Amino acid sequence: MHELSICYTIVETLQEVVKENEIEEVEAIVLEIGELSSIVPKYMENCFPCAVDGTLFEKSKLTIEVVEGIGRCKRCGYSYRLLPVEGYCPNCDVKDFDVISGEEFIIKELICF
Ligand SMILES: [Zn+2]
Repeated sequence: MHELSICYTIVETLQEVVKENEIEEVEAIVLEIGELSSIVPKYMENCFPCAVDGTLFEKSKLTIEVVEGIGRCKRCGYSYRLLPVEGYCPNCDVKDFDVISGEEFIIKELICF
């Protein structure tokens, strides 16, 4: 469970953003998490209330947008979702791809009142 420490890092980052922009209340925090990253959205949701306890974000809603892990086969150029096929190209059955998306971990947006 490294999600808790990630949550704390996010809160620290957000506190700087909030300070710089003189924001007083944050309605929601939007995170974008790639399904190929090692971060589990469900754990993030579980850890979030602990990390924001006693901060400005205590009442903020956490929204997580999951980005599908897409790869492009180096042999045939076919693009496909990696997880359901464990990385093997459905077209030519080799596991040799470039990752197109799904590794991101971004604080996408702060929604303020
Ligand atoms: Zn292929």
